[in-house]
Amino acid sequence: MEEKKKKKCLACGVDLQYMRRADFRTGGYEGLSKLFLGVCAELDETTIPFDMYICPTCRKIEFYAK
Ligand SMILES: [Zn+2]
Repeated sequence: MEEKKKKKCLACGVDLQYMRRADFRTGGYEGLSKLFLGVCAELDETTIPFDMYICPTCRKIEFYAK
């Protein structure tokens, strides 16, 4: 049921298009993971799955943790 949820671009108000699933690894990318994940980087998880969406109008890309 969650995959049917529509995400909207905050700037344009149009529906974001689902692109793909992406994985962020926290191990070995300490600087990057802190930048993206903040406190989550302190967890022991090595891979965090995200859904990637893109706005067809302004090309903004948004990530949502699964
Ligand atoms: Zn947009």
